[in-house]
Amino acid sequence: MLNERYIKLGSAPNAIRSLFAYGEARKAEIGEDKVYDYSIGNPSVPAPQKVKDTIMKLLDEPADKLHAYSQSPGLMSTRTAVANNLKNRYGIDAKPQHVYMTHGAAAGLAITINAVALEGEEVIAVAPYFCEYQVWTETARAKLVEVPARESDFQIDVDAMAAAINPKTAAVIIDSPNNPVGSIYSEQNLREFCDMLAAKEKEIGHAIYLISDEPYRDITYGDTVPFVPDFYDDTIICYSYSKSLSLPGERIGYIYVSDRMDNVDNVWYSICGSARAQGYICASVLFQRVVEECVDLPSDVEAYRANRKLLTDMLDELGYEYIQPQGAFYLWIKALEPDDQAFCERAKNDFDLLMCPSSCFKAKGWARAGYCISADTIKNSRVAFEGLKKSYEA
Ligand code: PLP
Repeated sequence: MLNERYIKLGSAPNAIRSLFAYGEARKAEIGEDKVYDYSIGNPSVPAPQKVKDTIMKLLDEPADKLHAYSQSPGLMSTRTAVANNLKNRYGIDAKPQHVYMTHGAAAGLAITINAVALEGEEVIAVAPYFCEYQVWTETARAKLVEVPARESDFQIDVDAMAAAINPKTAAVIIDSPNNPVGSIYSEQNLREFCDMLAAKEKEIGHAIYLISDEPYRDITYGDTVPFVPDFYDDTIICYSYSKSLSLPGERIGYIYVSDRMDNVDNVWYSICGSARAQGYICASVLFQRVVEECVDLPSDVEAYRANRKLLTDMLDELGYEYIQPQGAFYLWIKALEPDDQAFCERAKNDFDLLMCPSSCFKAKGWARAGYCISADTIKNSRVAFEGLKKSYEA
């Protein structure tokens, strides 16, 4: 017998990837420069030269070591390098024993959600959110509960969060800098939220794990991203090198279970068990070694910063409303009609302008434009944004 849940999941279109695939086909049909593809978060900045040099150097090492299995959570040398990086950057006593190398943040989140949430429990996410959270939560047979961000500034709505927490709450997922909005939760907002969460833990009598999804932690434009374990002991970080080192196809990242947690050992074993149950053991050794050598490299955000300015200047001139992104590489643009799907369909069908409707992220009335694309595409897309705006004014 086949698993009906998985047939349904596997056959359901992923809206973002479908739009991306449409864009590829459309480019082949009418020309690369005539499609303004803001659909997906594939970094346009190449990986740093040191990453390439390291890969080339490593390829000369004995194949039976380089292409071998590591321990399930990864090479101790890589986990030590990651722990040292956290120590040096944030002054915490991170132990390599609590770092698990994973196949990107996707695997990190699937592992972590399934490690901390039981059937019938609830996992809260701040909407708008990365839609795969729903899939991973349902895999754990838990329920995803959405709590909208504050409408005024897309920070965490602490009162709404407090109202949503109940004895069934197992975990809360946050993502700052945020995909799709680009907001960074301020220190004050995070502190108020974490204080509330700690009080709720006491009230309901069990841990509520804070899962901090951090693929964009290093893609920022001046604002600092507060380090979540400094605010809340029961924190588990899911980090990725997909965006920070532009390595999305290599599937490499890590989980870090905060050493400040009371029952850190059991949480760690649960992470290891969940990873084992799902087959996420021994991430690519070649890329573990790359991380080991490149862990301290800064992310190159200059092209994204320039693109952000190009796009927002253009939208200012054309009279669009949007949220100024503090990090990541997405612009959250107010749709010109309440139905964000209809808005994005019109942009796509009439102007070859590809943006993701906000309903993909469980919010209404917005569109997400990923500006991790070439500056020329942004410049050339002016005609499409202008035409789209005019079509609503006609
Ligand atoms: N979380 C968020 C918010 C993302 O935007 C993404 C990818 O775009 C992921 C997780 C998964 O990233 P990874 O490539 O590390 O699996």
